[in-house]
Order: sequence, then C-alpha cells, then structure tokens
Amino acid sequence: MNWAERSRQAVWHPCTQMKGHELAPPRAIVAADGPWLIDDQGHRILDAVSSWWVNLFGHNFAPIREAITDQLQRVDHIMLAGLTHPPVVELSERLAALTGLGHAFYASDGASATEIALKMSAHSWRNLGRPGKHRFIGLQGGYHGETVGALSVTDIPLFRESYAPLLRLSATLPSPDPRQAAPGVSAEQHLQHCIDALAAWLAQHHAETAAIILEPLVQGAAGMAMHDPAYLVAVRRLCDQYQVHWIADEIAVGFGRTGTLFAHQQAVGDDGQPVRPDFICLSKGLTGGVLPLSAVLTTDAVYQAFWDDRVAHGFLHSHSYTGNPLACRAALAVLDTFAARDAQGRDVLARNREAAERFNALVQPLNRHPRVRAHRHLGMIWAWDIDTQDPGFAARYHRAALQAGLLLRPIGHTLYVMPPYVLTEADQRHLADGLLAVLNLVLGDEPGAPPQTAQPADGLRMA
Ligand SMILES: *Cc1c(COP(=O)(O)O)cnc(C)c1O
Repeated sequence: MNWAERSRQAVWHPCTQMKGHELAPPRAIVAADGPWLIDDQGHRILDAVSSWWVNLFGHNFAPIREAITDQLQRVDHIMLAGLTHPPVVELSERLAALTGLGHAFYASDGASATEIALKMSAHSWRNLGRPGKHRFIGLQGGYHGETVGALSVTDIPLFRESYAPLLRLSATLPSPDPRQAAPGVSAEQHLQHCIDALAAWLAQHHAETAAIILEPLVQGAAGMAMHDPAYLVAVRRLCDQYQVHWIADEIAVGFGRTGTLFAHQQAVGDDGQPVRPDFICLSKGLTGGVLPLSAVLTTDAVYQAFWDDRVAHGFLHSHSYTGNPLACRAALAVLDTFAARDAQGRDVLARNREAAERFNALVQPLNRHPRVRAHRHLGMIWAWDIDTQDPGFAARYHRAALQAGLLLRPIGHTLYVMPPYVLTEADQRHLADGLLAVLNLVLGDEPGAPPQTAQPADGLRMA
C-alpha cells in the first residue's frame, strides 16, 4: 500500500470530508525545498498557500533549522510554571518591543491563543469588579479557530453550524469588507455603516461586553476579505469610549503578511501613532511555519487586573507545552530574519514590496479575466472572486492545480495566493501562469459552462 492509501486508512485529516479522499487521495510529501514540496512520485509542487498560511521563508530555512538544532543541544522542553528559560524571556522581550504590548502568554496553536485572549479579557473585568462584562463581539465572516470558545466568535457557517448547541452566543456585527455593501452603497458609506453598527451595539450592550475580536485588515477564512484601516481606528476609539477590549487576531496577518510587521500597525490614529489593541494573538508565521507556537500579548492594565494575593485572581490557564524552548528559538530566528538587511540595505518587508510589484505585473491577465468579478491585493496576499455557480469549484481547482504543480485551495469561489516570501521570479511566473491556465481549464470543464475564450496573455499553456 502506498502512503496515500495508508494515510487514508490511519489518519483523520483536518478540515476534510474523508470520503472525498476516495476520489482524490492526499498527496504524500517526502521532501521540501524552499517554497517547493516534493511528493513520493518526485513531482514538485509550489506551496502557494504557505502550508495553510504558516510558512514565511520556505521550507527547511537554514536559520530556523540551525536555531532549533542549537537549542536541542541545550534544553529540549521544560514546563513554564515555576521555571523559565532564556529563549522564552528573550522572545517575550522582543515581541513587547515590536508591539508595545507585553506579558506574553504562550500556547501551541492559534485557536488556543483566541481562547486565552477571550478568557483573559472576561476574567480581567471580573477581577476589576465587573463580572457582567463577559460577552463578545465578532465580525461577519470572522474566523478565530475551531475550539469551542474560538468557534463561538467565528462566523463561518460551514465550520460552526454542526456545533451550534455547544457554542456561546456572541454578537456578530457587519464586516467592513466593501463587498458586503448593499446595492448602491459606496465602500465609504459601507465603512461608516459598520462603524455606526458597532457604536450602536456598544451604546446598548457595553455593560455586558468584554471584548470585540477581529482580524485586522484581512479576514482570511472569509475569502481574503480586505477592509480599510480606518475601521480599526474607529474600533479603538469606540472601545476606549465604552471600556471594551479590542482583541486583534493577527494569527494569519502578522509577520509581514499585509506589508507591515503587524496588520493593525497600518491604522494610524488622530495622534499620528499606530493604534494599539488591548490584546494581540500571534501564531502561524511566528515560528516561520516550522513548530507550533502561539502567543497572546496584552496591556499593563490587563496584567495588573490579575496581580493579587488571591490565587484565583491569577490567570490559571496552562498548556503542557507552554513556551516550548525549541519553538521559541524558531520564533527568535524569524525575528532576526525580519531585523536583518541584505547587501542592498533591504529588509524582508522591503524585498516583499518589490516581489509584490513583480507579481502584480504577472497577474494582470488574471485580473482582467472575464470571469474574475473582483480582485484584491495587500502585502503578500492576492485574491480573485470567480464568477461561477459550481459548488465544486474550489475542489476541482485544487485538484487541477496539483496536476499543474501548484498547491492552491480556493475558499468557495475565491481563488487566492498567500505565498512564502522567497519566490524567485521564475517561481512567480510559474504561479501566475498556472493560476490562469488552471482557471481556464476548470471553467472550461464546468457543468453547463459556456466555451472559454480567454487565453493567457503571452500564450502560455499549462504543461
Ligand atoms: C488559523 C487561524 C486561527 C487558528 O489557528 P490554529 O493554529 O489553526 O488553531 C485563528 N485565527 C485566524 C485569523 C487564523 O487564520
């Protein structure tokens, strides 16, 4: 039996209807080389979604590998209650310096970071004598993870509905995604409508509300829905006005994805300074996609609310692998990589801006495709909404893309790329040409589709 077949029998794959693997067995990856994955048949596949948005610098990136290997010679893992270690101290100090928040609390995945932020927020209000403030606000289309607490503030019906009786109701307010604007409503008017809706909700419910949680600038699981940073400025102002915490879920958008180190830093308040959330959740890119690690950063005020002689006023949350030293060393290598400059004086963010410009030119034909209804780009994220009625579009595109040497997983009718930051110009061309060729192939195969006339601009065809 091959790996795919053994996996199908022994492994319950995530976010997967396992019956689907009868038609399309999982690919077995046996090696990786930068942004490329190599399967057990020797096929090379470009990892254009950064292995579920975690990988920043390609696979087997030497500085991360060396940091982990070095740490393995020192301390592999220790518990973080009653003990500490240099990597976790250093990482916490550096994350605080980069964000202006501190008191880093660690877990191993994004959903746990969400849980921590929600619990910390409500518990801090309780400690401050306001136990009624325990409700949360999420945004339409928001995604914060799959555990029960995180799903409570997630608004993706497919992930949520089967567990609805287990979830705590939270308010879902309109998303500033301009595509959600009612007919005839401009993007600006829609933005104002969303701010007004939040203001109205808080005016009525602030006494029961602990926090609003949102993905700054890009709602990933909603299909890379992007919004104006002005919304975040308004969130900060309203949260201050009504004494409600703002939890910025930077799990997907942190670490340069949107063009700045953290997405919320693009929102500049009236004082000319970037706005500051009350909590920041980090994971995914935190270790460059190599080891599981997440962190929640918060304000001195929240931290102070737990500082007490009474044990029960402490934050008694824990995970066995909290602050794993190997993962912290990987994260430190990531921060070193962002801090470094190349021979031309460019840092990662500057190189990404140049790479994004090149890729923008390469995807012009796709942007102009007659079946592309909307396209958008921010930092190292690109998305195209495809005009198709086929509910199987995403699955068919995924399979066809694999055949063409591309790992792509459209969300519904939205095709997107979130590549590692290390694509060469040749990689970018392979990706841009493949995106278009696979789209034409998949639309051409569509049940009842009209014949496709659009061709790749430079005549390239899928190999
Ligand atoms: C992926 C993601 C999570 C959950 O992280 P996991 O590590 O998968 O639990 C939470 N929030 C956002 C915005 C994400 O993209």
